[in-house]
Amino acid sequence: MQIQQARAHIMTVLAGGESPRADADVLLCHLLDCRRGYLMTWPERELDAAQQVTLQQWLARRLAGEPIAHLIGEREFWSLPLKVSPATLIPRPDTEVLVEQALTKIPQGPCAVLDLGTGTGAIALALKSERPEIEVWAVDRMADAAALARENSAALGLPIAVRHGSWFEPLGDAGLSKAPRFAVIVSNPPYIDGADPHLEQGDVRFEPRSALVADEAGLADIRHIVAHAPAYLLTDGWLLLEHGWDQGAAVRQLLCDSGYREVATVRDYGDNDRVTLGRRP
Ligand code: GLN
Repeated sequence: MQIQQARAHIMTVLAGGESPRADADVLLCHLLDCRRGYLMTWPERELDAAQQVTLQQWLARRLAGEPIAHLIGEREFWSLPLKVSPATLIPRPDTEVLVEQALTKIPQGPCAVLDLGTGTGAIALALKSERPEIEVWAVDRMADAAALARENSAALGLPIAVRHGSWFEPLGDAGLSKAPRFAVIVSNPPYIDGADPHLEQGDVRFEPRSALVADEAGLADIRHIVAHAPAYLLTDGWLLLEHGWDQGAAVRQLLCDSGYREVATVRDYGDNDRVTLGRRP
């Protein structure tokens, strides 16, 4: 089978999906360990027998619903190739809005930034890639996720401090003078309501509930972060939170009730409320 035939075949098999053409290119680039341009330049190159078997296995798994990112074990975020696994969330393009906003809030010069619930390390590594001089901390409650973030940090040559534990817990008691203080704290926490029917559809079925679902209609973890962040933020530091498209007003309210200043919500590329930010009370 030639590259061009494989491409057409994948697009036919995945025609019912959201992005058959892009999926075909991602799968073939990974299979052949090449860039997209290679597929266009060498359409008649043959896939070997082992590659054809792998491709058929991937397509069968994809038809059974598995995310493309899990088939190839990788997803690009902020132009960084990140290793992914079923242990944590697959990075979403919408989360790049959180990175963009955080970059506008990180002060000039050296400072420390914290990413809570880092998962693959996506947000922390994107920030480190843009601002190599800053100190980036990344925390995750799941040991597998913390290990994955460390692996991505090493593979990309972007040093960040990964800590394993629940939210602020691995940072130590904020009352102690040794506890770190951050100019910016970011988080893409679990925020989906456990009763949301969208949990039964698509890629989220293959992601851990612990990374997706929170109590109190999805707001419990956001509430916890809003309550505890001030103790770890520098004066005038910023908290930026990703949340669901329908949670903007509720998250602004939580921040305002805790005394945060300059509270605002920013929309994602789909024009939905996605990130809410505020300045330390
Ligand atoms: N935005 C993701 C989704 O709706 C959820 C991410 C999250 O819970 N942090 O699929």
